[in-house]
Amino acid sequence: MQIADRCVVSFHYSLTDDAGEVIDTSSGRAPLAYLHGVGNIVPGLEAELAGRQVGDAFKVSVSPEQGYGVHHEGLVQQVPRDALAGVDSVEVGMEFHTQGPQGMLAVAVTAVDGETVTIDGNHPLAGKTLNFDIEVIEVRQATDEEAQHGHVHGVGGVEH
Ligand code: ZN
Repeated sequence: MQIADRCVVSFHYSLTDDAGEVIDTSSGRAPLAYLHGVGNIVPGLEAELAGRQVGDAFKVSVSPEQGYGVHHEGLVQQVPRDALAGVDSVEVGMEFHTQGPQGMLAVAVTAVDGETVTIDGNHPLAGKTLNFDIEVIEVRQATDEEAQHGHVHGVGGVEH
């Protein structure tokens, strides 16, 4: 069966950045399952999976535009440490949610310099080229319920 809309696809992946550093991998875990055609995964990878079948293995480089988006400087802010009242010790790498212009925004602390804290609301992988190494493990037809919900049920998916 070739991967097309309404297919549930399970695949193993490893994701490296341009320096060859592994960012994420399914190695040692269950393969990732997604419903094809509804944007469950980044567009550049979904497009490459279309038409593939079980056993196919390939590498693909996905540009930021087709991945997690470009890096927006406007989402990087410097705030006084006092603005983070209630947080005992502010450290690089901390993540929290804050009220943004379009609802809640996940931000990460990227720098602490004296009383100034830099927070970044970009996705951690925004602006990065994503180098995927993919192996297709399983392809099946989605159930009607999965197609309606827009996600996979059962193993590797949503349990509800
Ligand atoms: Zn569901």
